[in-house]
Amino acid sequence: MKNVTLAIDADGIALVTWDMPGRSMNVLDEASIRDYGGAIDEICSNDAIKGVVVTSAKKDFIAGADLAMLGGWSAKVAGLAPVAAAQQIFGWTMSLQTMLRKLETCGKPVASAVPGTALGGGFEVVLATHHRVIAANDKAQLGLPEVKLGLMPGAGGTQRSVRMVGVMTAAPLLMEGKSLAPAEALKMGLVQQVVPAGEIVEAAKTWVKANIAEGERYRAARAAGDKKATASFLPAWDQPKYKLPGGGPQTPTGFPVFMGGGAMIRKNSYGLYEAPKAILSAVYEGVQVPFDAALKIETGYFTKLVLSPQSKNMIRSLFVSKQALEKGAHRPHDVPDMSVKKLGVLGGGGFMGAGIANVAAGAGIEVVVLDQTEEGAAKAKAHAEKEAMGRVAKGRMTETRARELLARITTTADYSKLAGCDLVVEAVFEHPDVKRQVIEAAEQHLPETAVFASNTSTIPISDLAERSKRPERFIGIHFFSPVEKMPLVEIIKGKKTGDAALARALDFVRQMKKTPIVVNDARFFYANRCVLRYIEEAHYMLAEGVKPALIENAARMIGMPVGPLALNDETALDLGVKIAKTTKAALGAAYREHPAEARIEDMVVRLGRLGRKASKGFYEYPERGADGKSNGKKRLWPGLAELFPVAAVQPDVEELKTRYLTVQAVEAVRALADGVVEDVREVDVGAIFGWGFAPWTGGPISYIDTIGPARFLADCDRLAAKFGDRYAAPALLRDIAAKGETFYGRFAGEAEGKAA
Ligand code: NAD
Repeated sequence: MKNVTLAIDADGIALVTWDMPGRSMNVLDEASIRDYGGAIDEICSNDAIKGVVVTSAKKDFIAGADLAMLGGWSAKVAGLAPVAAAQQIFGWTMSLQTMLRKLETCGKPVASAVPGTALGGGFEVVLATHHRVIAANDKAQLGLPEVKLGLMPGAGGTQRSVRMVGVMTAAPLLMEGKSLAPAEALKMGLVQQVVPAGEIVEAAKTWVKANIAEGERYRAARAAGDKKATASFLPAWDQPKYKLPGGGPQTPTGFPVFMGGGAMIRKNSYGLYEAPKAILSAVYEGVQVPFDAALKIETGYFTKLVLSPQSKNMIRSLFVSKQALEKGAHRPHDVPDMSVKKLGVLGGGGFMGAGIANVAAGAGIEVVVLDQTEEGAAKAKAHAEKEAMGRVAKGRMTETRARELLARITTTADYSKLAGCDLVVEAVFEHPDVKRQVIEAAEQHLPETAVFASNTSTIPISDLAERSKRPERFIGIHFFSPVEKMPLVEIIKGKKTGDAALARALDFVRQMKKTPIVVNDARFFYANRCVLRYIEEAHYMLAEGVKPALIENAARMIGMPVGPLALNDETALDLGVKIAKTTKAALGAAYREHPAEARIEDMVVRLGRLGRKASKGFYEYPERGADGKSNGKKRLWPGLAELFPVAAVQPDVEELKTRYLTVQAVEAVRALADGVVEDVREVDVGAIFGWGFAPWTGGPISYIDTIGPARFLADCDRLAAKFGDRYAAPALLRDIAAKGETFYGRFAGEAEGKAA
């Protein structure tokens, strides 16, 4: 079976249809590229073909390049010297570029008829046609998202988009990977027509037909030796006197755009990400040379990115591993579908409960919200209503859908209403006695098969399970705040948690469209234990006299989305003090006081600086206006200097950056060594999506493997000697470093084997 077919109609128009057998989506892989190349050869050599329409028989056009193909390329060149490896990748990429260019310049009018989504390489195939007709399909996304995985367009995308609409307009598409709805792409000028879904091929054919004569005239002139001949349907850059919209880098209008572009990359990401820099360079250089040379420039930068460890790490964690976990890599195989139809949320009127209820109702689940009082429970509905109406106002949800969502939420203080729930999640106060009370009350009304889950952040799941009549159906489902935004969910197995409970929790997380990691029961589970290290490191720095602004900026400079002091303000300083107190009680004599602890407690108790919620913490927050929104920016509280006097000599920022990366990564290794997390993919995915650990690294384990376990160990040893045993390397790290192995080398096969 062919991936791409070609049929010629009575007008001499070839209809080229993408329809990869056995797949729900078309992708660019070796076979489909070869088939499309075959169609292009036929189009260019067959005189009976006067014009072309390229379309797809599936609901979407082409989802993008097959990332497995890129992985395969890297594997094939792994043994080669760097230059030879680059030459191979360059050659493979250029062959697709040449194919698309051949179609674009063969002198026959080519239109695309796009029924739905066309992303990445798929959108580049569209851009390499002369006339682009898109279906008015509100699910369709058009764009070049490569940058999000550390890559860039490698089939002419950077050069064609910029030449069509100018650098400024194309920038969000290329540099941020923003995708467009058909109407937006039309407005921008990247596509020419948006028509009802059933009419795309007809509309495309109409355009081709109108240009057949022009094509014939042009081809005849060229055959007769007229080198200056041109056709009106050829791309602007193949027309004489073409000028880049907005001007090139050497023009008064274009120069500031490029200047600003470079500055913007540094401002947004401190230059940590290679892809946006490569894209900007490819555009800067490409627009100054003829189009065919520009494609080679693009291919050069693309090759560099494909071979870079950064893109490999980002693709692995942000795409391959994430998807594998979402598809149930750790779901017990022999348990049938356990999707949740009716959910109970205890403490559902609270901050976390209301978020969980809202997302679940949005996923089509019936939700019973229970709280201490009817009024308390009703807060969940008010929250969901506010959220839904906000989305309606922004045009992101229809009013009907919003009403349906709200109708799925019922609120109560009566436990008997939990009858028939498949799953109950409790998010009541963080106190064992309160938890015990609600577990016992709820279980009286739940069916035997129901699973009980706790959203606790600090209480061991096995301890809570002791309060349950059926500990094998007791589990932790730990959401992060705010529930609507945070993509990760930790599923915590207690000592007695059974397969059915695990399957139920995983199926529920999938319904909620979140990414799960499955962890074993231990203090703070996985993500919080590492993020606490991050915040605590900033407290150490304060105590050492490091300037607060340097503390925050050094963290941003390694790619943390939020500085540790700002993050601490968000999670609340009093919570930190409370956690320190309970940890002290739990550890007894083994507890070691932090040098900043007393002063932070002073901030909370004496000064009422509780963090964001009190509008004062490490930062000062501007007053909120009558609309509830604050205007102006927060700024670091000047009074910090009195509590934490600034040292005369400030440390090198590089040292601070290494400290942040090392202290978080070594804690992640400890979690792996202790068996809290068993799969290196979960260590990486959990870090990026749970607490925003420097996404450019691909996660802590990818970071360690990339710099080399031996070098990481040396960092740990050096920092431990200087700053203390929070940097101490676990035996697992020493062993891997001593044997010259990598973490993925040792663990990945094992993890995937388990999942298979
Ligand atoms: P919250 O105080 O906002 O909400 C708790 C809710 O539980 C309140 O509505 C309260 O009325 C209700 N409640 C208390 N006792 C009850 C009872 N006996 N019966 C029924 N309802 C009762 O607290 P929160 O911040 O939403 O935290 C809830 C849970 O989620 C805690 O276990 C917490 O550790 C965990 N958690 C919180 C966060 C966070 O960032 N806030 C993140 C992850 C997990």
